[in-house]
Amino acid sequence: MLEETRSHKVNKVIERMGKKLSRQIVGSLVACVHCGMCTNSCHYVLANPDDPTFAPAYKADQIRKIFKRHFDWTGRIFPWWVNAKDYHSDEELEKLKETVFGKCTNCRRCTINCPMGVDFAVLNRMARGLLVSVGVMPEGVAVVSKDQWELGNQMGVLKEDYLETLEWLSDELENEFGDPAARIPIDKADADVIYAINPREIKYDPRTISDAARIFYLTGEKWTMASEGWDMTNFGFFSGDDDLAGTVVRRLFKKVIELRGKKLVLSECGHGYRAVRCEGPNWAGMDVPFEMESSVITMLRYLKEGRIRVDQTKNNTPVTFHDSCNNARSCGFFEEPRELLKLVATDFREMYPNRAENYCCSGGGGAMSMAEYTPLRLKAAKVKADQLKATGAKTVVTTCHNCADALTDLIRHYKLGMKVTHLVNLVSNALKVEKKVVVAEALPVLSLQGYKILVVDDEPDILTFISTVLEDQGAKAVQASDGDQALEMALKEKPDLITLDLSMPGRSGGVVFEEFRKNPALSDVKVCIITGKPELRRLIYDRPVRPPEGYLDKPVNEETLLVNVRKILEVREGEKK
Ligand code: SF4
Ligand code: SF4
Repeated sequence: MLEETRSHKVNKVIERMGKKLSRQIVGSLVACVHCGMCTNSCHYVLANPDDPTFAPAYKADQIRKIFKRHFDWTGRIFPWWVNAKDYHSDEELEKLKETVFGKCTNCRRCTINCPMGVDFAVLNRMARGLLVSVGVMPEGVAVVSKDQWELGNQMGVLKEDYLETLEWLSDELENEFGDPAARIPIDKADADVIYAINPREIKYDPRTISDAARIFYLTGEKWTMASEGWDMTNFGFFSGDDDLAGTVVRRLFKKVIELRGKKLVLSECGHGYRAVRCEGPNWAGMDVPFEMESSVITMLRYLKEGRIRVDQTKNNTPVTFHDSCNNARSCGFFEEPRELLKLVATDFREMYPNRAENYCCSGGGGAMSMAEYTPLRLKAAKVKADQLKATGAKTVVTTCHNCADALTDLIRHYKLGMKVTHLVNLVSNALKVEKKVVVAEALPVLSLQGYKILVVDDEPDILTFISTVLEDQGAKAVQASDGDQALEMALKEKPDLITLDLSMPGRSGGVVFEEFRKNPALSDVKVCIITGKPELRRLIYDRPVRPPEGYLDKPVNEETLLVNVRKILEVREGEKK
Protein backbone atom coordinates (compact mmCIF):
# COMPACT_ATOMS: atom_id res chain seq x y z
CA MET A 1 0.00 0.00 0.00
CA LEU A 2 1.38 3.38 -0.99
CA GLU A 3 2.43 5.72 1.77
CA GLU A 4 0.59 8.60 0.07
CA THR A 5 -2.76 6.93 0.60
CA ARG A 6 -2.32 7.26 4.34
CA SER A 7 -2.61 10.37 6.48
CA HIS A 8 0.55 11.90 7.92
CA LYS A 9 -0.43 10.72 11.40
CA VAL A 10 -1.06 7.15 10.26
CA ASN A 11 2.34 7.04 8.58
CA LYS A 12 3.97 8.29 11.78
CA VAL A 13 2.14 5.68 13.88
CA ILE A 14 3.30 2.86 11.58
CA GLU A 15 6.86 4.17 11.51
CA ARG A 16 6.98 4.44 15.32
CA MET A 17 5.42 1.04 15.82
CA GLY A 18 8.45 -0.43 14.07
CA LYS A 19 10.69 1.11 16.73
CA LYS A 20 8.60 -0.19 19.64
CA LEU A 21 8.58 -3.85 18.68
CA SER A 22 10.46 -5.42 21.56
CA ARG A 23 10.55 -9.17 22.00
CA GLN A 24 7.86 -8.93 24.71
CA ILE A 25 5.54 -6.91 22.48
CA VAL A 26 6.04 -9.08 19.40
CA GLY A 27 5.42 -12.16 21.54
CA SER A 28 2.02 -10.81 22.54
CA LEU A 29 1.28 -9.71 18.99
CA VAL A 30 1.84 -13.12 17.45
CA ALA A 31 0.81 -15.56 20.19
CA CYS A 32 -2.97 -15.14 20.31
CA VAL A 33 -4.87 -18.19 19.05
CA HIS A 34 -8.27 -16.57 19.63
CA CYS A 35 -9.35 -19.22 22.10
CA GLY A 36 -11.46 -16.70 24.01
CA MET A 37 -10.30 -17.85 27.44
CA CYS A 38 -9.48 -14.28 28.44
CA THR A 39 -12.87 -12.86 27.45
CA ASN A 40 -14.78 -13.14 30.70
CA SER A 41 -11.88 -11.99 32.83
CA CYS A 42 -12.40 -8.41 31.65
CA HIS A 43 -14.71 -6.20 33.69
CA TYR A 44 -15.74 -4.33 30.52
CA VAL A 45 -16.99 -7.60 28.99
CA LEU A 46 -18.93 -8.50 32.13
CA ALA A 47 -20.71 -5.15 31.98
CA ASN A 48 -21.32 -5.34 28.21
CA PRO A 49 -21.89 -9.05 27.51
CA ASP A 50 -23.57 -8.49 24.12
CA ASP A 51 -20.89 -6.27 22.66
CA PRO A 52 -17.93 -8.25 21.24
CA THR A 53 -15.83 -5.09 20.82
CA PHE A 54 -15.01 -5.20 24.55
CA ALA A 55 -13.34 -8.63 24.37
CA PRO A 56 -9.60 -8.41 25.08
CA ALA A 57 -8.71 -10.38 21.94
CA TYR A 58 -10.90 -8.14 19.76
CA LYS A 59 -9.30 -5.03 21.25
CA ALA A 60 -5.84 -6.49 20.74
CA ASP A 61 -6.70 -7.29 17.11
CA GLN A 62 -7.24 -3.58 16.40
CA ILE A 63 -3.55 -3.08 17.16
CA ARG A 64 -2.41 -6.45 15.88
CA LYS A 65 -3.81 -5.90 12.37
CA ILE A 66 -1.47 -2.94 11.80
CA PHE A 67 1.48 -5.02 12.96
CA LYS A 68 0.51 -7.89 10.68
CA ARG A 69 0.03 -5.65 7.66
CA HIS A 70 3.42 -3.98 7.99
CA PHE A 71 5.78 -6.11 10.08
CA ASP A 72 4.73 -9.74 9.68
CA TRP A 73 5.71 -11.49 6.43
CA THR A 74 2.48 -13.48 6.07
CA GLY A 75 0.42 -10.35 6.59
CA ARG A 76 2.44 -8.44 4.04
CA ILE A 77 1.92 -11.13 1.38
CA PHE A 78 -1.50 -12.56 2.31
CA PRO A 79 -3.20 -9.85 4.40
CA TRP A 80 -6.66 -11.42 3.96
CA TRP A 81 -5.38 -14.70 5.40
CA VAL A 82 -4.17 -13.35 8.75
CA ASN A 83 -6.67 -10.53 9.17
CA ALA A 84 -4.05 -7.86 8.52
CA LYS A 85 -5.35 -4.40 7.76
CA ASP A 86 -3.88 -1.09 6.84
CA TYR A 87 -4.99 2.12 8.51
CA HIS A 88 -5.38 5.18 6.29
CA SER A 89 -7.25 8.00 7.93
CA ASP A 90 -7.18 10.04 11.10
CA GLU A 91 -10.75 8.86 11.74
CA GLU A 92 -9.43 5.31 12.06
CA LEU A 93 -6.90 6.50 14.63
CA GLU A 94 -9.70 8.23 16.53
CA LYS A 95 -11.58 4.92 16.58
CA LEU A 96 -8.49 3.15 17.88
CA LYS A 97 -8.26 5.84 20.58
CA GLU A 98 -11.76 4.91 21.79
CA THR A 99 -10.61 1.32 22.17
CA VAL A 100 -7.23 1.74 23.81
CA PHE A 101 -8.14 4.60 26.16
CA GLY A 102 -11.88 4.07 26.65
CA LYS A 103 -12.30 0.30 26.78
CA CYS A 104 -9.32 -0.92 28.80
CA THR A 105 -7.74 0.07 32.10
CA ASN A 106 -4.54 -1.91 31.47
CA CYS A 107 -5.40 -3.98 34.54
CA ARG A 108 -3.84 -7.20 33.13
CA ARG A 109 -6.57 -9.49 34.44
CA CYS A 110 -6.97 -10.93 30.94
CA THR A 111 -3.22 -11.56 30.84
CA ILE A 112 -3.16 -13.97 33.73
CA ASN A 113 -5.99 -15.93 32.12
CA CYS A 114 -4.27 -16.33 28.76
CA PRO A 115 -2.65 -19.75 28.21
CA MET A 116 -0.49 -18.28 25.46
CA GLY A 117 1.01 -15.57 27.66
CA VAL A 118 -0.45 -12.66 25.68
CA ASP A 119 -0.04 -9.47 27.70
CA PHE A 120 -2.70 -7.25 26.21
CA ALA A 121 -1.93 -4.37 28.57
CA VAL A 122 1.56 -4.14 27.08
CA LEU A 123 0.09 -3.88 23.59
CA ASN A 124 -2.50 -1.40 24.75
CA ARG A 125 0.12 0.82 26.37
CA MET A 126 2.21 0.73 23.21
CA ALA A 127 -0.81 1.72 21.11
CA ARG A 128 -1.60 4.57 23.50
CA GLY A 129 1.95 5.81 23.19
CA LEU A 130 1.79 5.70 19.39
CA LEU A 131 -1.42 7.73 19.38
CA VAL A 132 -0.10 10.21 21.95
CA SER A 133 2.97 10.75 19.77
CA VAL A 134 0.70 12.10 17.00
CA GLY A 135 -1.57 14.05 19.35
CA VAL A 136 -4.51 11.62 19.31
CA MET A 137 -5.61 11.25 22.93
CA PRO A 138 -8.40 12.20 25.33
CA GLU A 139 -8.16 15.81 26.46
CA GLY A 140 -7.58 14.80 30.09
CA VAL A 141 -4.53 12.79 29.09
CA ALA A 142 -3.08 15.83 27.32
CA VAL A 143 -3.76 18.11 30.31
CA VAL A 144 -2.31 15.78 32.95
CA SER A 145 0.73 14.97 30.81
CA LYS A 146 1.39 18.68 30.31
CA ASP A 147 1.23 19.27 34.08
CA GLN A 148 3.67 16.49 34.74
CA TRP A 149 6.05 17.67 32.04
CA GLU A 150 5.93 21.31 33.07
CA LEU A 151 5.24 21.36 36.82
CA GLY A 152 6.88 18.10 37.82
CA ASN A 153 3.70 16.53 39.13
CA GLN A 154 0.55 15.30 37.49
CA MET A 155 -1.94 17.38 39.47
CA GLY A 156 -0.50 20.77 38.68
CA VAL A 157 0.51 21.45 42.31
CA LEU A 158 2.71 24.53 42.49
CA LYS A 159 5.89 24.28 44.55
CA GLU A 160 4.72 27.01 46.96
CA ASP A 161 1.40 25.22 47.56
CA TYR A 162 3.21 21.94 48.17
CA LEU A 163 5.58 23.52 50.69
CA GLU A 164 2.80 25.50 52.33
CA THR A 165 0.73 22.34 52.82
CA LEU A 166 3.70 20.56 54.41
CA GLU A 167 4.20 23.62 56.59
CA TRP A 168 0.69 23.60 58.03
CA LEU A 169 0.79 19.85 58.47
CA SER A 170 4.03 20.38 60.40
CA ASP A 171 2.37 23.07 62.53
CA GLU A 172 -0.38 20.61 63.43
CA LEU A 173 2.10 17.87 64.22
CA GLU A 174 4.24 20.11 66.37
CA ASN A 175 1.14 21.26 68.17
CA GLU A 176 -0.12 17.73 68.70
CA PHE A 177 3.11 16.52 70.27
CA GLY A 178 4.20 19.79 71.84
CA ASP A 179 7.61 19.18 70.34
CA PRO A 180 9.36 21.56 67.91
CA ALA A 181 11.11 18.51 66.43
CA ALA A 182 7.79 17.03 65.37
CA ARG A 183 7.85 18.54 61.89
CA ILE A 184 8.15 17.28 58.33
CA PRO A 185 11.81 17.69 57.37
CA ILE A 186 12.36 19.11 53.88
CA ASP A 187 15.48 18.38 51.79
CA LYS A 188 17.41 16.97 54.73
CA ALA A 189 20.63 15.45 53.42
CA ASP A 190 21.80 11.94 54.38
CA ALA A 191 18.37 10.82 55.58
CA ASP A 192 17.71 7.12 56.05
CA VAL A 193 14.32 7.54 54.39
CA ILE A 194 13.15 9.88 51.64
CA TYR A 195 9.38 9.76 51.43
CA ALA A 196 7.77 10.29 48.01
CA ILE A 197 4.05 10.76 47.59
CA ASN A 198 1.19 10.97 45.12
CA PRO A 199 0.22 14.63 44.44
CA ARG A 200 -3.39 13.69 45.22
CA GLU A 201 -2.27 13.62 48.83
CA ILE A 202 -1.30 17.27 48.72
CA LYS A 203 -4.35 18.34 46.82
CA TYR A 204 -7.15 16.17 48.19
CA ASP A 205 -5.95 13.98 51.04
CA PRO A 206 -3.20 15.61 53.14
CA ARG A 207 -4.22 13.47 56.16
CA THR A 208 -2.30 10.59 54.56
CA ILE A 209 0.85 12.74 54.71
CA SER A 210 0.34 13.80 58.30
CA ASP A 211 -0.46 10.21 59.29
CA ALA A 212 2.80 9.06 57.70
CA ALA A 213 4.62 11.93 59.42
CA ARG A 214 3.20 10.86 62.82
CA ILE A 215 4.52 7.36 62.23
CA PHE A 216 7.98 8.55 61.15
CA TYR A 217 8.13 10.93 64.11
CA LEU A 218 7.14 8.28 66.66
CA THR A 219 9.70 5.81 65.33
CA GLY A 220 12.40 8.47 65.53
CA GLU A 221 13.14 7.84 61.86
CA LYS A 222 15.74 10.00 60.19
CA TRP A 223 13.53 10.97 57.27
CA THR A 224 12.77 13.77 54.88
CA MET A 225 10.58 14.83 52.00
CA ALA A 226 12.02 16.54 48.95
CA SER A 227 11.09 20.05 47.85
CA GLU A 228 11.22 18.92 44.22
CA GLY A 229 11.17 15.53 42.55
CA TRP A 230 8.65 14.29 45.14
CA ASP A 231 5.94 12.95 42.82
CA MET A 232 6.07 9.15 42.71
CA THR A 233 3.28 8.91 40.12
CA ASN A 234 3.97 8.64 36.43
CA PHE A 235 1.48 9.62 33.78
CA GLY A 236 3.81 8.38 31.05
CA PHE A 237 3.10 4.93 32.44
CA PHE A 238 -0.60 5.41 31.64
CA SER A 239 -0.26 7.32 28.38
CA GLY A 240 2.44 5.09 26.90
CA ASP A 241 4.76 8.07 26.48
CA ASP A 242 8.13 6.49 27.30
CA ASP A 243 9.92 9.86 27.17
CA LEU A 244 7.66 11.26 29.88
CA ALA A 245 7.88 8.04 31.88
CA GLY A 246 11.69 8.19 31.87
CA THR A 247 11.85 11.90 32.65
CA VAL A 248 9.50 11.61 35.61
CA VAL A 249 11.32 8.74 37.24
CA ARG A 250 14.72 10.34 36.62
CA ARG A 251 13.59 13.46 38.51
CA LEU A 252 12.74 11.32 41.50
CA PHE A 253 15.95 9.30 41.42
CA LYS A 254 18.18 12.33 40.89
CA LYS A 255 16.72 14.08 43.91
CA VAL A 256 17.35 11.05 46.14
CA ILE A 257 20.94 10.91 44.87
CA GLU A 258 21.40 14.68 45.37
CA LEU A 259 20.21 14.37 48.98
CA ARG A 260 22.25 11.19 49.49
CA GLY A 261 19.14 9.38 50.74
CA LYS A 262 19.61 5.75 51.75
CA LYS A 263 16.14 4.51 50.96
CA LEU A 264 13.27 5.80 48.86
CA VAL A 265 9.98 4.95 50.55
CA LEU A 266 7.00 5.10 48.23
CA SER A 267 3.61 6.08 49.54
CA GLU A 268 0.48 4.06 48.80
CA CYS A 269 0.06 4.37 45.03
CA GLY A 270 -0.26 1.26 42.86
CA HIS A 271 0.93 2.48 39.50
CA GLY A 272 3.49 4.78 41.12
CA TYR A 273 5.04 1.84 42.94
CA ARG A 274 5.21 -0.21 39.75
CA ALA A 275 6.46 2.72 37.70
CA VAL A 276 9.23 3.63 40.14
CA ARG A 277 10.34 0.34 41.62
CA CYS A 278 9.63 -2.17 38.87
CA GLU A 279 9.91 -0.23 35.60
CA GLY A 280 11.77 2.86 36.81
CA PRO A 281 15.43 1.87 36.51
CA ASN A 282 14.88 0.76 32.90
CA TRP A 283 12.95 3.86 31.91
CA ALA A 284 15.39 6.15 33.66
CA GLY A 285 18.34 4.38 32.08
CA MET A 286 20.46 4.91 35.16
CA ASP A 287 21.89 3.04 38.11
CA VAL A 288 19.88 3.34 41.29
CA PRO A 289 22.30 3.41 44.22
CA PHE A 290 19.67 3.29 46.96
CA GLU A 291 16.96 0.92 48.17
CA MET A 292 13.30 1.36 47.33
CA GLU A 293 10.30 0.03 49.19
CA SER A 294 6.59 0.55 49.63
CA SER A 295 5.49 2.40 52.77
CA VAL A 296 3.36 -0.67 53.53
CA ILE A 297 6.56 -2.69 54.02
CA THR A 298 8.08 0.17 56.03
CA MET A 299 5.11 0.34 58.41
CA LEU A 300 5.01 -3.43 58.78
CA ARG A 301 8.70 -3.46 59.66
CA TYR A 302 8.28 -0.70 62.24
CA LEU A 303 5.56 -2.76 63.90
CA LYS A 304 7.55 -5.98 63.84
CA GLU A 305 10.61 -4.22 65.23
CA GLY A 306 8.51 -2.67 68.00
CA ARG A 307 9.33 0.85 66.87
CA ILE A 308 5.63 1.63 66.96
CA ARG A 309 2.89 -0.07 68.91
CA VAL A 310 -0.77 -0.19 68.02
CA ASP A 311 -4.13 -0.86 69.58
CA GLN A 312 -6.13 -2.57 66.85
CA THR A 313 -9.42 -2.07 68.72
CA LYS A 314 -9.23 1.56 67.60
CA ASN A 315 -10.16 0.30 64.11
CA ASN A 316 -13.09 -1.94 64.96
CA THR A 317 -15.51 -1.46 62.08
CA PRO A 318 -15.58 -4.19 59.41
CA VAL A 319 -12.98 -3.54 56.73
CA THR A 320 -12.20 -5.20 53.44
CA PHE A 321 -9.16 -4.87 51.21
CA HIS A 322 -8.98 -3.97 47.53
CA ASP A 323 -5.84 -5.17 45.74
CA SER A 324 -4.47 -2.53 43.40
CA CYS A 325 -3.86 -4.25 40.03
CA ASN A 326 -0.41 -2.71 39.75
CA ASN A 327 0.63 -3.62 43.29
CA ALA A 328 -0.84 -7.09 43.32
CA ARG A 329 -1.24 -8.60 39.86
CA SER A 330 1.77 -6.86 38.36
CA CYS A 331 4.19 -6.70 41.32
CA GLY A 332 3.14 -9.71 43.41
CA PHE A 333 2.47 -7.53 46.41
CA PHE A 334 -0.28 -9.62 48.06
CA GLU A 335 0.44 -10.66 51.62
CA GLU A 336 2.16 -7.69 53.25
CA PRO A 337 -0.85 -5.35 53.10
CA ARG A 338 -3.05 -8.07 54.55
CA GLU A 339 -0.56 -8.81 57.31
CA LEU A 340 -0.45 -5.13 58.23
CA LEU A 341 -4.21 -4.73 58.01
CA LYS A 342 -4.80 -7.65 60.36
CA LEU A 343 -2.43 -6.09 62.89
CA VAL A 344 -4.22 -2.75 62.97
CA ALA A 345 -7.90 -3.64 62.50
CA THR A 346 -10.10 -6.14 64.34
CA ASP A 347 -12.58 -7.18 61.66
CA PHE A 348 -10.94 -7.85 58.28
CA ARG A 349 -13.13 -9.45 55.64
CA GLU A 350 -11.54 -10.78 52.48
CA MET A 351 -13.07 -9.79 49.16
CA TYR A 352 -13.55 -12.47 46.48
CA PRO A 353 -11.89 -12.95 44.07
CA ASN A 354 -8.74 -11.35 45.41
CA ARG A 355 -4.97 -11.01 45.02
CA ALA A 356 -3.98 -11.68 41.36
CA GLU A 357 -7.60 -12.39 40.41
CA ASN A 358 -9.03 -9.23 41.92
CA TYR A 359 -11.07 -6.99 39.64
CA CYS A 360 -9.82 -3.55 38.69
CA CYS A 361 -11.27 -0.62 40.64
CA SER A 362 -12.27 0.61 37.15
CA GLY A 363 -10.00 3.65 37.44
CA GLY A 364 -6.75 2.03 36.30
CA GLY A 365 -4.68 3.19 33.35
CA GLY A 366 -5.42 6.85 34.04
CA ALA A 367 -9.17 6.32 33.50
CA MET A 368 -10.05 8.93 36.14
CA SER A 369 -8.58 11.65 33.95
CA MET A 370 -10.70 10.75 30.90
CA ALA A 371 -14.06 12.32 31.65
CA GLU A 372 -15.61 11.33 28.34
CA TYR A 373 -15.50 7.66 29.33
CA THR A 374 -17.01 8.08 32.80
CA PRO A 375 -20.36 6.40 32.00
CA LEU A 376 -18.52 3.43 30.47
CA ARG A 377 -16.15 3.26 33.42
CA LEU A 378 -18.94 3.29 35.98
CA LYS A 379 -20.88 0.66 34.07
CA ALA A 380 -17.80 -1.56 34.01
CA ALA A 381 -17.38 -0.98 37.76
CA LYS A 382 -20.50 -3.02 38.52
CA VAL A 383 -18.55 -6.20 39.24
CA LYS A 384 -16.32 -4.30 41.68
CA ALA A 385 -19.40 -2.80 43.35
CA ASP A 386 -20.86 -6.30 43.75
CA GLN A 387 -17.58 -7.53 45.21
CA LEU A 388 -17.52 -4.72 47.74
CA LYS A 389 -21.14 -5.14 48.74
CA ALA A 390 -20.77 -8.88 49.30
CA THR A 391 -18.16 -8.30 52.02
CA GLY A 392 -20.59 -6.45 54.28
CA ALA A 393 -17.69 -4.18 55.26
CA LYS A 394 -18.19 -0.53 56.06
CA THR A 395 -14.74 0.50 54.90
CA VAL A 396 -12.60 -0.54 51.98
CA VAL A 397 -8.87 -0.22 52.42
CA THR A 398 -6.56 0.10 49.46
CA THR A 399 -2.89 0.82 48.93
CA CYS A 400 -3.49 3.13 45.98
CA HIS A 401 -4.68 6.72 45.70
CA ASN A 402 -5.88 6.14 42.18
CA CYS A 403 -7.99 3.19 43.35
CA ALA A 404 -9.25 5.35 46.24
CA ASP A 405 -10.63 7.89 43.78
CA ALA A 406 -12.23 5.28 41.57
CA LEU A 407 -13.68 3.34 44.52
CA THR A 408 -15.11 6.53 46.02
CA ASP A 409 -16.75 7.29 42.70
CA LEU A 410 -18.27 3.85 42.24
CA ILE A 411 -19.39 3.66 45.88
CA ARG A 412 -21.27 6.93 45.33
CA HIS A 413 -22.67 5.74 41.98
CA TYR A 414 -23.87 2.36 43.31
CA LYS A 415 -24.93 3.88 46.66
CA LEU A 416 -22.91 1.41 48.74
CA GLY A 417 -22.47 3.71 51.73
CA MET A 418 -18.86 2.67 52.31
CA LYS A 419 -15.77 4.68 53.19
CA VAL A 420 -12.41 4.37 51.45
CA THR A 421 -9.18 4.61 53.39
CA HIS A 422 -5.49 3.77 53.20
CA LEU A 423 -3.37 1.59 55.42
CA VAL A 424 -1.44 4.61 56.68
CA ASN A 425 -4.68 6.08 58.05
CA LEU A 426 -5.50 2.90 59.95
CA VAL A 427 -1.96 2.49 61.30
CA SER A 428 -1.90 6.10 62.46
CA ASN A 429 -5.32 5.80 64.05
CA ALA A 430 -4.29 2.69 65.95
CA LEU A 431 -1.00 4.11 67.22
CA LYS A 432 -0.30 3.96 70.91
CA VAL A 433 1.17 7.39 71.49
CA GLU A 434 3.40 7.40 74.53
CA LYS A 435 5.06 10.75 73.94
CA LYS A 436 3.74 13.80 75.71
CA VAL A 437 0.77 15.30 73.95
CA VAL A 438 0.28 19.02 74.39
CA VAL A 439 -2.67 20.19 76.51
CA ALA A 440 -4.77 23.20 75.77
CA GLU A 441 -3.17 25.42 78.43
CA ALA A 442 0.22 25.02 76.75
CA LEU A 443 -0.97 26.69 73.57
CA PRO A 444 0.73 29.95 72.69
CA VAL A 445 -1.19 33.12 73.34
CA LEU A 446 -3.34 33.64 70.30
CA SER A 447 -5.26 36.82 70.17
CA LEU A 448 -8.05 36.91 67.63
CA GLN A 449 -9.23 40.22 68.98
CA GLY A 450 -10.63 42.45 66.26
CA TYR A 451 -11.39 39.56 63.88
CA LYS A 452 -14.93 38.74 62.87
CA ILE A 453 -15.56 35.11 61.92
CA LEU A 454 -18.75 33.71 60.41
CA VAL A 455 -19.31 30.13 61.56
CA VAL A 456 -21.58 28.13 59.23
CA ASP A 457 -22.82 24.71 60.29
CA ASP A 458 -26.22 23.04 60.54
CA GLU A 459 -25.27 21.16 63.72
CA PRO A 460 -25.98 23.36 66.76
CA ASP A 461 -23.32 21.62 68.89
CA ILE A 462 -20.61 22.33 66.35
CA LEU A 463 -21.77 25.91 65.86
CA THR A 464 -21.48 26.44 69.58
CA PHE A 465 -18.14 24.66 69.90
CA ILE A 466 -16.39 26.54 67.09
CA SER A 467 -17.86 29.89 68.11
CA THR A 468 -16.85 29.39 71.75
CA VAL A 469 -13.27 28.43 70.89
CA LEU A 470 -12.92 31.49 68.67
CA GLU A 471 -14.58 33.87 71.12
CA ASP A 472 -12.36 32.60 73.95
CA GLN A 473 -9.48 33.95 71.89
CA GLY A 474 -11.11 37.33 71.46
CA ALA A 475 -12.78 36.95 68.04
CA LYS A 476 -16.33 38.02 67.34
CA ALA A 477 -18.17 34.94 66.08
CA VAL A 478 -21.40 35.23 64.12
CA GLN A 479 -23.38 32.19 63.12
CA ALA A 480 -25.41 30.77 60.26
CA SER A 481 -27.01 27.35 60.12
CA ASP A 482 -27.69 26.91 56.42
CA GLY A 483 -26.47 28.10 53.04
CA ASP A 484 -29.00 30.90 52.49
CA GLN A 485 -28.41 32.32 55.93
CA ALA A 486 -24.65 32.08 55.38
CA LEU A 487 -24.82 34.20 52.26
CA GLU A 488 -27.06 36.76 53.92
CA MET A 489 -24.86 36.98 57.02
CA ALA A 490 -21.66 37.17 54.99
CA LEU A 491 -22.96 40.14 53.01
CA LYS A 492 -24.24 41.87 56.13
CA GLU A 493 -21.33 41.18 58.50
CA LYS A 494 -18.35 41.24 56.09
CA PRO A 495 -16.33 38.74 58.18
CA ASP A 496 -12.56 38.24 57.96
CA LEU A 497 -13.04 34.49 57.78
CA ILE A 498 -15.88 32.05 57.17
CA THR A 499 -15.73 28.51 58.55
CA LEU A 500 -18.01 26.51 56.30
CA ASP A 501 -19.64 23.10 56.68
CA LEU A 502 -20.31 21.23 53.42
CA SER A 503 -23.26 18.96 54.19
CA MET A 504 -26.18 21.16 55.07
CA PRO A 505 -29.90 21.07 54.26
CA GLY A 506 -30.82 23.14 51.21
CA ARG A 507 -27.91 24.49 49.26
CA SER A 508 -24.74 22.53 49.92
CA GLY A 509 -21.65 24.18 51.34
CA GLY A 510 -19.89 23.59 48.01
CA VAL A 511 -22.46 25.66 46.12
CA VAL A 512 -22.41 28.36 48.79
CA PHE A 513 -18.61 28.41 48.68
CA GLU A 514 -18.64 29.02 44.93
CA GLU A 515 -21.21 31.81 45.42
CA PHE A 516 -18.95 33.47 48.01
CA ARG A 517 -16.08 33.41 45.56
CA LYS A 518 -18.13 34.70 42.64
CA ASN A 519 -19.76 37.52 44.59
CA PRO A 520 -17.51 40.61 44.20
CA ALA A 521 -18.46 41.79 47.69
CA LEU A 522 -17.21 38.54 49.24
CA SER A 523 -14.56 37.27 46.89
CA ASP A 524 -11.70 38.36 49.17
CA VAL A 525 -13.11 36.77 52.31
CA LYS A 526 -11.06 33.82 53.49
CA VAL A 527 -12.82 30.46 53.80
CA CYS A 528 -11.96 27.42 55.87
CA ILE A 529 -14.02 24.33 55.05
CA ILE A 530 -14.78 22.20 58.12
CA THR A 531 -16.47 18.98 57.09
CA GLY A 532 -17.18 15.42 58.12
CA LYS A 533 -16.88 14.37 54.49
CA PRO A 534 -13.20 14.47 53.50
CA GLU A 535 -14.10 12.75 50.21
CA LEU A 536 -15.77 15.99 49.06
CA ARG A 537 -12.39 17.75 48.99
CA ARG A 538 -11.96 17.04 45.31
CA LEU A 539 -15.35 18.55 44.46
CA ILE A 540 -14.35 21.75 46.23
CA TYR A 541 -10.87 22.06 44.75
CA ASP A 542 -12.15 21.26 41.26
CA ARG A 543 -14.58 24.21 41.29
CA PRO A 544 -13.61 26.96 38.86
CA VAL A 545 -12.81 29.43 41.65
CA ARG A 546 -9.91 30.14 44.02
CA PRO A 547 -9.57 27.17 46.42
CA PRO A 548 -10.42 27.61 50.10
CA GLU A 549 -7.66 28.88 52.39
CA GLY A 550 -8.15 25.92 54.73
CA TYR A 551 -9.80 22.50 54.80
CA LEU A 552 -10.33 20.65 58.08
CA ASP A 553 -11.89 17.27 58.76
CA LYS A 554 -14.41 16.81 61.55
CA PRO A 555 -14.18 16.11 64.36
CA VAL A 556 -11.98 19.15 64.74
CA ASN A 557 -10.36 19.82 68.09
CA GLU A 558 -9.53 23.16 69.67
CA GLU A 559 -5.81 23.02 68.92
CA THR A 560 -6.24 22.15 65.26
CA LEU A 561 -8.90 24.79 64.78
CA LEU A 562 -6.80 27.54 66.35
CA VAL A 563 -3.59 26.61 64.54
CA ASN A 564 -5.41 26.76 61.23
CA VAL A 565 -7.38 29.92 61.91
CA ARG A 566 -4.22 31.67 63.05
CA LYS A 567 -2.43 30.53 59.93
CA ILE A 568 -5.22 31.57 57.58
CA LEU A 569 -5.56 34.99 59.17
CA GLU A 570 -1.78 35.30 59.43
CA VAL A 571 -1.97 36.10 63.12
CA ARG A 572 1.32 35.97 64.96
CA GLU A 573 1.82 35.37 68.65
CA GLY A 574 1.12 38.38 70.81
CA GLU A 575 -0.21 40.45 67.88
CA LYS A 576 -3.68 41.93 67.66
CA LYS A 577 -5.52 43.03 64.57
S1 SF4 B 1 -6.20 -5.31 30.64
FE1 SF4 B 1 -8.01 -5.39 31.99
S2 SF4 B 1 -9.41 -3.85 31.15
FE2 SF4 B 1 -7.85 -4.31 29.57
S3 SF4 B 1 -8.78 -5.89 28.32
FE3 SF4 B 1 -7.53 -6.93 29.87
S4 SF4 B 1 -8.97 -7.35 31.55
FE4 SF4 B 1 -9.95 -5.82 30.22
S1 SF4 C 1 -6.69 -16.10 26.11
FE1 SF4 C 1 -4.81 -15.42 25.04
S2 SF4 C 1 -4.79 -16.66 23.19
FE2 SF4 C 1 -6.87 -16.82 23.98
S3 SF4 C 1 -8.00 -15.13 22.98
FE3 SF4 C 1 -7.25 -14.29 24.88
S4 SF4 C 1 -5.29 -13.33 24.35
FE4 SF4 C 1 -5.82 -14.75 22.67
